[in-house]
Amino acid sequence: MDDSNVIISLRSLSYAYTGYKRQQILDCADLHICQGELIALVAPSGSGKSTLLHIIGLLDKADKGQYFINGQEAPIPTSNHAARLRNQQFGFVFQFHHLISECHVLDNIAMPLLIQGKSKKNARKQAMQSLEILNLQHYAMRHINQLSGGEQQRIAILRALIHYPMLILADEPTGNLDPDNAELVFDLFVTYAKHQQSAVLIATHNYDLAKKCDRIITIAHRKIEIFDDKR
Ligand code: ADP
Ligand code: MG
Repeated sequence: MDDSNVIISLRSLSYAYTGYKRQQILDCADLHICQGELIALVAPSGSGKSTLLHIIGLLDKADKGQYFINGQEAPIPTSNHAARLRNQQFGFVFQFHHLISECHVLDNIAMPLLIQGKSKKNARKQAMQSLEILNLQHYAMRHINQLSGGEQQRIAILRALIHYPMLILADEPTGNLDPDNAELVFDLFVTYAKHQQSAVLIATHNYDLAKKCDRIITIAHRKIEIFDDKR
């Protein structure tokens, strides 16, 4: 591994849910993600995939261990610095896309750019260009509830990628799609991410789709392990 290409580095990371009952999710877990790398995270339900994505995405904080982003210690999730990183360096895709139903497709895709302070005109122009790349420009003025599940998920992916994030975190993005749409959405994801050199960490149950990634990892015994080394 060439250290100069490592963008995300988790070292001996531990995390437990407390409250009603203590549940250790990660215990001294390690993970490195390199620039432009596509990683699938395949692990049983309840093993901590979403938790891991939340920690990496600065939505939650580990109890112990170290987390470095581009060699710098990760900021605490509630800080302004973390909010800036989430807006500028990370892109999120969820199983239930969380698109804004009051807005049309174009403004949904443009949202990360609008949050960054880009003008509406420029943000919409860039969103339109991303639709054109996929030949989806005719959807621009449609409302979210006028799209199929697969179409909505493709729009959510464009939104996650529009600001050229360094890392995309995708939590079962094809989990509620039929197999044909799942493959379509996954392929779009992989192609687009590679095209713009974003790294991707994608939690999925679909092993066939996972095989399209560079590397497959899992969570076992509260550690991050190689699931299947294809090399
Ligand atoms: P996965 O995404 O792999 O299905 P999660 O990361 O969502 O797993 O959850 C891991 C475990 O932590 C599960 O057993 C779940 O019930 C538990 N868990 C998730 N969120 C919370 C929470 N907010 N409070 C307490 N336990 C939680
Ligand atoms: Mg989950």
